[in-house]
Amino acid sequence: MTEVAQAGANRGAARLGGLGTTIFTEMTLLAQRTGAINLGQGFPDEDGPSEAIEAAVAALRGGDNQYAPLSGVPSLRDAILAHQHHYYGLEPEDLLVTFGATEAIASALLGLCDPGDEVLVLEPYYDSYAACIAFAGARRRPMTLRPPEFALNLDELRATAAGARGRAKVLLLNTPHNPTGRVLDARELQAIAQVCIDHDLICVSDEVYEHLVYDGEHIPIASLPGMSERTLTISSIGKSFSFTGWKVGWCSGPAELVAATRKVKQYLTFAGGTPLQHAAAAALALPPVHLTRLRDQLRANRDLLSKGISAAGWQPLPAAGTYFINADVGEEAVAFCAALPDGCGVVAIPTSVFYDDKQAARNLVRFAFCKRPEVIAEAAKRLAA
Ligand code: PMP
Ligand code: GLN
Repeated sequence: MTEVAQAGANRGAARLGGLGTTIFTEMTLLAQRTGAINLGQGFPDEDGPSEAIEAAVAALRGGDNQYAPLSGVPSLRDAILAHQHHYYGLEPEDLLVTFGATEAIASALLGLCDPGDEVLVLEPYYDSYAACIAFAGARRRPMTLRPPEFALNLDELRATAAGARGRAKVLLLNTPHNPTGRVLDARELQAIAQVCIDHDLICVSDEVYEHLVYDGEHIPIASLPGMSERTLTISSIGKSFSFTGWKVGWCSGPAELVAATRKVKQYLTFAGGTPLQHAAAAALALPPVHLTRLRDQLRANRDLLSKGISAAGWQPLPAAGTYFINADVGEEAVAFCAALPDGCGVVAIPTSVFYDDKQAARNLVRFAFCKRPEVIAEAAKRLAA
């Protein structure tokens, strides 16, 4: 490479804070190399409802193969609005279909943040948050959830918001929360809402695990008083219907927030995945039993894996939602996870990779339990042995 190109590449890499290969890709490669059960990257090993797959095939065969409208195909837009109304009584002004929740998060942060802004964000956080905040030239200001409860410290929340006053426009929320499995409760959400109102913050709320709640209930922050007018709610078809590879996502909320997001999205990917958008509409139109069946299966998986973790002599932490359960393994977790595939044929992720404050999660390991029951049973057996 020429010196100029090398220097340019170095500057680019530095701006992104040395972001490397995602931990998920790394862990899946490790599982493939070692033949271990992959409880690292969270994705199901079974397809979602066959009705939705048939709808995808019908759309492919039926000529729905050109660009979708920028904001999404009408049937999916209608289905998302019906979903928000049916489950939460929400009536968003506008919505936008995206390539997974991932593109909604990226477009929202790029569209809503200016370089130099701070973004309030729960720590630990999903990896794309750090990357997208960096893409926007902004900085993250974490509010840390600490084990074993992963509860939000409300004094810390208020102090963090006060510290970012004048520099933050966006609070990036995620509930049910990856990687902790926490489902934020009404008191915590009320406090976050009050902070958003007091400091005039936009709330970007990632709710991709909205239907995967095993204890308690999911409350969309947009449903709290004063919040529908300042919240962009994000979700996708991936987790609720076990179609993570379809990458059909969406965001909804006030017209200006959706417009800012759409402005970026149109230059990232414009609009596509057309047949899968039609199929996602079909999935959302299925009776709710599809969602509850998946939830109940995942709850049973969680309990089974939790028993395996206990039998191994480690401490499983509460996991009220998502695909994930954390365990305190009583030793430094990065080395522990490096040895786990050879030691017992399981891949898992050291939770500290999702924290800026590595010490806060020094001994924690995140296990995904979104696999077939027999795979979870085998993993639990291996851990226990
Ligand atoms: N947010 C969180 C918290 C996630 O765990 C995931 C799943 N990978 C995503 C966003 C991305 O969702 P999608 O696959 O729809 O892009
Ligand atoms: N959300 C999944 C996880 O946390 C992985 C998504 C990805 O591979 N980017 O494991």
